[in-house]
Amino acid sequence: MKTPEAAQDTSNISVAELHERESRWNYALVGSGLGVWDHDLRSGKKYYSDTWKIMRGMSVEEDADGDYDAWIELIHPDDRAFVVEAIERQNAGDGDYQKFEYRERHRDGHWIWIECRGACVEWDENGAPARLVGTDTDITARKEAEERLAHVSRRLDLALDISDIGVFEADIDNGTVDWDDRLLAIYGLTAASPFTMGDAWMAALHPDDKERVIATIDAGIAGNTDFQQQFRIIRGDGAERVIRAKSGFFIDSHGRRKLIGANWDVTDEVRLNSELQRAKDLAEARNQELESAKESIEHIALHDYLTGLPNRRYLDRELGERSARCRDDNLTLAILHIDLDRFKQINDTLGHRAGDAMLKHAAGVLKESVRPTDFVARIGGDEFVVLCTVDVTAKKISNLSDRIIRELAKPIRYEGHDCRFGASIGIATASGAALDAKQILLNADIALYRAKSGGRNRHEFFQTDARHRIIASKRIGDEILRGLERQEFVPFYQPQFNARTLEITGLETLARWQHKEHGILTPDRFLTIAEDLGVVATIDGLILERALVDRRQWESEGIIIPKIAVNVSSRRLDDPNLGKKLKSLKIVPGTISFELLESISLDDCDEAVITNLRHLRRLGIDIEIDDFGTGHASIVSLLRLSPKTLKIDRELIRMLPNSAEQRKLVRSIIDIGRSLNILVTAEGVETMDHVRILGDLGCDVLQGYALARPMPAAQVVPFVRSGAWRPAANGQHQTPRPQQAG
Ligand code: C2E
Ligand code: CA
Ligand code: CA
Repeated sequence: MKTPEAAQDTSNISVAELHERESRWNYALVGSGLGVWDHDLRSGKKYYSDTWKIMRGMSVEEDADGDYDAWIELIHPDDRAFVVEAIERQNAGDGDYQKFEYRERHRDGHWIWIECRGACVEWDENGAPARLVGTDTDITARKEAEERLAHVSRRLDLALDISDIGVFEADIDNGTVDWDDRLLAIYGLTAASPFTMGDAWMAALHPDDKERVIATIDAGIAGNTDFQQQFRIIRGDGAERVIRAKSGFFIDSHGRRKLIGANWDVTDEVRLNSELQRAKDLAEARNQELESAKESIEHIALHDYLTGLPNRRYLDRELGERSARCRDDNLTLAILHIDLDRFKQINDTLGHRAGDAMLKHAAGVLKESVRPTDFVARIGGDEFVVLCTVDVTAKKISNLSDRIIRELAKPIRYEGHDCRFGASIGIATASGAALDAKQILLNADIALYRAKSGGRNRHEFFQTDARHRIIASKRIGDEILRGLERQEFVPFYQPQFNARTLEITGLETLARWQHKEHGILTPDRFLTIAEDLGVVATIDGLILERALVDRRQWESEGIIIPKIAVNVSSRRLDDPNLGKKLKSLKIVPGTISFELLESISLDDCDEAVITNLRHLRRLGIDIEIDDFGTGHASIVSLLRLSPKTLKIDRELIRMLPNSAEQRKLVRSIIDIGRSLNILVTAEGVETMDHVRILGDLGCDVLQGYALARPMPAAQVVPFVRSGAWRPAANGQHQTPRPQQAG
């Protein structure tokens, strides 16, 4: 082929050189992928280079005729009209059409993109194009790349649009920033020069976030690293929004350091998140509340409100667990059943608040006395239980019990009073596979019973032989309570006589239990148990009331009994309401006396007892010291009770006929009484010998089988009328035998 310039120069250069030039030119064209075409419109000759053919899938040998109509058919239908027009324009020498692109069908059937460059190089004499020369380049690959790029950026654009993400690009070195429209919209700003956008952005930053945000950016730039953060802005319209930003560092094609980044408004998300968080926090707090409410309900259900110790229910649970463990591991389980002594008195005399304080104190002592592995519970009233499963030897448990008893025996100060109580402890142990928790608990209970009846303030280990006895007394305890309800406790009366004249001076009431199965029972059958049950005071009160009723009955039958003595337990004397109760009975002064046991010593009398003694005096109720001579109370302390009478214990009387020493002792008691103006009564006067001796010794009053046995109310009048106790005229005497009691 010939270029226009080459054609002009041919005259001056050699054929060889020409040849060389042409081949150089051809190689360059082939190397650059340009397919050359040359249309000589005058001769109608058309030339197409090899590359031109190859790009269209034609073979090099093939003759390309350059038939316009056939060629135009190969153009993509969408491009055809344009190509027709473009060729026309190109032929006309329109600079805009020197180059155009279109699609043409490859021999294989697919479309190839062709960039056509061409120009008119020769014109005829009329100025019409005579020769057109140009190159076709296969730009399919470039077109596809462009299409891919367009596709990607279309997608990106769509994505940014949908997600409302604004993008900026900053030139770090010259300080310019380009914002896209979306970014401007997010910040509520209008476009301005790239040189001022940085400042505009800085101004929009929330003052409280500014420092942190800039520090992050500086660090990112300094390290050429990507970074992200969240911050608040004040929009152009004054609204505060939360922005999340991600920025990436890159170096552009010009070697300039750049930062590209995306911002999006997360205000709603943040608000939603914080609302969710608040809701979550709220739910968690509510949960926590419920949890702790549940816990405290559980705690309340398992603990004693007063002392904070585990309660009966907790004990049952713990006992179940511990006994199972003992069975499995062949360990020993010890149960200590602790009962406070004298607690009820404190409660009765000083009030419930004092009682509560004592219980709290006791709980504290127990907690401090036990070992960390032991379990303490309050199971009601003044009763506590300790479970031990670790290091359970008789010695250790015994020491533990003693420690508890010792600590609980120490007096406690309460509102100016020295409160004293003590503790009795029953202990039972068991081990091995057959261990039965309920049985141990029962055994400990039985041992406690023994500890209490054995004198209190002591501990007692369970012993099998004791069991039946105790179980019996427990049964009796229940029966006593039932008996009280059914009014089965009644007074019997034992007359007392003037030692000189043998006239009846009074009666002593003695409690009897009219048992529906066993008949009439004397106090030895029920008194100890009644005391343990705390019902002796009730019995005492009952007996007194009945005695007053009986006395009125006798009076109506014409028999006046000058004085009735009733036995009074220490419990009753502790009762803060005793004065009130007695007052309501309207007792005629001088007709009733209270027999107090010598063991009630004024030395450790509390306030309530002293108050009660004052009440008694005011109500004209006399005091007699019962069982005098058996206790160890000092006479002086007894005298402080200002008794009307001393009752010499029948043990001292019994020996009188055979023992001069005993007689001496009794005489000295009588002498003391006389000198202090206190009457002396002898109990257990069993024979007429006694009667005589006591008369000789100057005793004032006699009481005993020799003269009269205790009798029911109905027999008192007949007995008094009979005078049966008086010695018979013939000097013989007969012991009167009213219906015997007991
Ligand atoms: P106590 O107060 O010393 O009562 C006298 C006891 O001696 C009575 O026994 C009586 O039956 C008995 N006795 C009377 N004469 C003779 C005798 O010549 N020889 C012998 N060996 N005994 C005689 P009882 O009725 O069995 O009462 C025993 C104790 O029970 C009483 O001793 C008293 O301490 C107590 N007791 C009785 N009734 C009551 C009561 O209502 N309340 C209280 N708190 N205690 C009571
Ligand atoms: Ca008595
Ligand atoms: Ca007595």
